[in-house]
Amino acid sequence: MIIVLKPKTKQEDIERIEGMVKERGGQPQVVVGSEMTVIGIIGDTTKIDPRSLEVDEVVERVMKVSEPYKKANRAFHPDDSIIDVSGVKVGGDHLAVIAGPCSIESEEQVIEIARAAKAAGANMLRGGAFKPRTSPYAFQGMGSSGLDILYKAGKEVGMPIVSELMSADHLEEFDEKVDLIQIGARNMQNFDLLKQLGKTKRPILLKRGLSATFEEWIMSAEYIMAAGNPNVILCERGIRTFESYTRNTLDLQAIPVVKKLTHLPIIIDPSHAGGKWWLVEPMARAAVAAGADGLMIEVHNNPEKALCDGPQSLKPEKFEAVIKQVRDIARVIGKEI
Ligand code: PEP
Ligand code: MN
Repeated sequence: MIIVLKPKTKQEDIERIEGMVKERGGQPQVVVGSEMTVIGIIGDTTKIDPRSLEVDEVVERVMKVSEPYKKANRAFHPDDSIIDVSGVKVGGDHLAVIAGPCSIESEEQVIEIARAAKAAGANMLRGGAFKPRTSPYAFQGMGSSGLDILYKAGKEVGMPIVSELMSADHLEEFDEKVDLIQIGARNMQNFDLLKQLGKTKRPILLKRGLSATFEEWIMSAEYIMAAGNPNVILCERGIRTFESYTRNTLDLQAIPVVKKLTHLPIIIDPSHAGGKWWLVEPMARAAVAAGADGLMIEVHNNPEKALCDGPQSLKPEKFEAVIKQVRDIARVIGKEI
């Protein structure tokens, strides 16, 4: 961080600002020029808020030179992180394929989809038991009984399970049963919930908020990591733009950007991005070509009757066709399902 002081700042004010920086854990380096004085801050700047320095009357402006996230930062951890989800590796040259219904609806439904998804090449099973719905009148998910169904299906077909946690009240239950705990877009900045995730060592799938910048999203990962859980996988699921034809706009640039800024794996959810089943295949192909570490795709055996997100769900046969293509593309860029 660099603090530029106003011209002709007095020595006592320079020393006062230096003192403030030291108090907050930084190491100030003062450079006095003929016109201007600048103070470079090295060391730990995590507790220094540039805006609180900028309110001082002798400060002209403050410039950040390093990112506010440390644990997630590629600069301090140059190698890609590979996250182990109960034996399935995410990151590096592995391609994770998470498939399953938006919501768990019944045991028969989940088992049928789980078997078909596994046969088609999926290596993790998803299903929502606690659903964040825009309308309070819409199906809210089966809750704990749904989680039990997913748990049983995961064991039966031999796939780790992924499900969304909406409240820390259920953390113990998720810690026990869920291999990869999803934090949905709407909770990406639920900071109390993020802090609680330090209590589990289960990997976390952190979805990008509806309108979150890269820095906001990575800072949310930093919350989880700073709380003591380093196992974070990021998930781009489309962001809100002016376009309303598609449900969201898939930001494929998130893949190279996240890889440049962090060492964390990133997976793409083309289902929630487009909101239409026929957009899933081209976007899944593009995501893998751009270097995504995995895909999360909604699959339903009867999309017309799905209680949630039917229009964006693939039938098992279509899912199989998508995975076939994706497998070939993955191989070209050195990844393997
Ligand atoms: C989901 O994965 O079912 C979901 C609700 O996703 P998002 O938080 O991305 O909307
Ligand atoms: Mn969904």
